[in-house]
Amino acid sequence: MAKQIQAVRGMNDCLPDQSPAWQFVENNLRQVVAGYGYSEIRTPILESTELFKRSIGEVTDIVEKEMYTFADRNGDNLTLRPEGTACVVRAGNQGGLLYNQEQRLWYIGPMFRHERPQKGRYRQFHQFGVEVYGLSGADADAEVILMTARLWQHFGMSDQVTLQLNSLGSNEARAEYKDKLVEFLLQHEAELDEDSKRRLHSNPLRVLDSKSPTTQAVLVDAPQLEDYLDEDSKQHMQRLCELLDDLGIRYELNNRLVRGLDYYNKTVFEWVTDALGAQGTVCAGGRYDGLVEQLGGKSTPAVGFAMGIERLILLLDTLGKLDHLPAAVDVYCMAGNDSCLSASLQIAENLRAQMPTLRVMHHLGGGNFKKQFKRADKFGASIALIVGEQELANGEVSLKHLRSDAQQETVQVTDLAERLAAIME
Ligand code: ATP
Ligand code: MG
Repeated sequence: MAKQIQAVRGMNDCLPDQSPAWQFVENNLRQVVAGYGYSEIRTPILESTELFKRSIGEVTDIVEKEMYTFADRNGDNLTLRPEGTACVVRAGNQGGLLYNQEQRLWYIGPMFRHERPQKGRYRQFHQFGVEVYGLSGADADAEVILMTARLWQHFGMSDQVTLQLNSLGSNEARAEYKDKLVEFLLQHEAELDEDSKRRLHSNPLRVLDSKSPTTQAVLVDAPQLEDYLDEDSKQHMQRLCELLDDLGIRYELNNRLVRGLDYYNKTVFEWVTDALGAQGTVCAGGRYDGLVEQLGGKSTPAVGFAMGIERLILLLDTLGKLDHLPAAVDVYCMAGNDSCLSASLQIAENLRAQMPTLRVMHHLGGGNFKKQFKRADKFGASIALIVGEQELANGEVSLKHLRSDAQQETVQVTDLAERLAAIME
């Protein structure tokens, strides 16, 4: 036998037994954002490498070591998108969506990062994200956070996630703080973990969210970003907290929360869980007022978040929330013998036309009833329709309940849709 070719490491297939979970999650995400009046935006998976360098930042984990970058046949430098925000801003600028107007957008799709694959961390993963443009007030921050809270409610997992909140202040405030932090950390350089030593010179704020206990011990006495915040950012944060308090959204203020991308200012937040081990951040976001201009547009305030769908599904699965998803098939239709096949196929067609949401699978490939019922069971059908010669002569079919003890029935073909509608209710 020829050698089988394997998928690229860290990139997963979504096999048919997993797709009901994905569809369930995606449908719910779509339903919730629709409830807020947001519009979908779709952008290409490939972009110019320059886009991510300029937005995410040259000295970030993503740009330094995680991007899938290559030259195409023309020698153009392209990158498989590692995240969605830069792409949405690029598309918004290019499509004239952002200048002097308000946009409330969402997207969903695959992202690519060359990281070490492990539970909850993959090289192709999926993000669902929301981006709001043209609104500088804390009400917009509050709405995107409310939306995430509604999602958790929707999935029945509100008690499993906590909201962590911080303000990064203005770029100027952050720059001043950065200098003070570096000054402090340089005095303790020997005590820092290796990653932090490196970041100290490239991206010092990231030292704050180091997982190393010794580094965390050093940070106890470090200058606090809070003390360097500008007045505008302070007021913004205060208003956001008031709104969240009024709306009953609980949060923890975490002044070590900095996020791994350069473009954030003012609000940053993460929803974290204890249920997934080290990969505990399910959703992360914040305000990025400078990015639109940085990517060549007119200055436009913006706020948004991205959610890792694999982690969300892992979490829902751990909580048993994916145990009772509906099967892919409602009705399994079978012909008594070959002479009834066209009538049986036609009956299934008529049902699909009359009941567009009913999932009708027709048996294919012949075989006896035993085999046909086995298939019906395998696909999870709740009803079997048997189109037999004798019943057909009277304009009837047999209807058998596969998931309940109800008696088999004989139904007039003309009444079939009505009867099924009553049963499926
Ligand atoms: P982490 O700290 O876990 O690496 P991040 O800060 O790099 O996350 P973001 O870039 O903010 O993550 O992406 C938002 C969300 O996307 C994360 O909270 C997570 O749920 C998900 N995510 C990020 N990277 C991966 C990955 N490699 N595999 C699966 N999900 C991911
Ligand atoms: Mg990361």
